Amino acid sequence: YGDASQKIDYVFKVVLIGDSAVGKSQMLARFARNEFSLDSKATIGVEFQTRTLVIQHKSVKAQIWDTAGQERYRAVTSAYYRGAVGALLVYDITKRQTFDHIPRWLEELRSHADKNIVIMLIGNKTDLEDQRAVPTEDAKEFAQKEGLFFLETSALEARNVEDAFLTVLTEIFNIVN
Ligand code: GDP
Ligand code: MG
Repeated sequence: YGDASQKIDYVFKVVLIGDSAVGKSQMLARFARNEFSLDSKATIGVEFQTRTLVIQHKSVKAQIWDTAGQERYRAVTSAYYRGAVGALLVYDITKRQTFDHIPRWLEELRSHADKNIVIMLIGNKTDLEDQRAVPTEDAKEFAQKEGLFFLETSALEARNVEDAFLTVLTEIFNIVN
């Protein structure tokens, strides 16, 4: 990845959405700073974090927005979605309810965001395989039906987190180029 001092060719806004406690903030901490905390407070209070990387010889600043504890249904404001070109729609593989709420989040996202937004469905916490409540196949099928990318991740083990963000960013890059 390129260093941050070079000129920026693109800024892509990507939003994180999904129920509370699914691991959105820890996924962002992993991607932006390669950090993880097991006792993360509900909110860091920062609207977004950035990381600059190089895609096909262009420098891309990823501006990743994190909900500040507004995960109640319809509490996320339209300003949050405004200008977003990518979204990570996150559930917790050990909490069925967080997966059952995904259609709502998707509907909210689609009603607020650009119609060409790149969306990836994420099943987080794969390190807790023994507590799994959402079969991979269910999520895969849903993603396919809705035309979403899909990956299972562990922010704790740094598994697939980089891949998830890079897939979304590269897809956005290919759309604008
Ligand atoms: P958010 O409310 O969606 O932002 O969720 P957080 O990122 O604050 O995470 C909620 C809780 O889940 C915290 O205790 C995290 O440490 C924990 N957590 C987040 N990601 C993972 C993961 O991949 N594996 C495990 N075991 N715990 C995680
Ligand atoms: Mg959070």
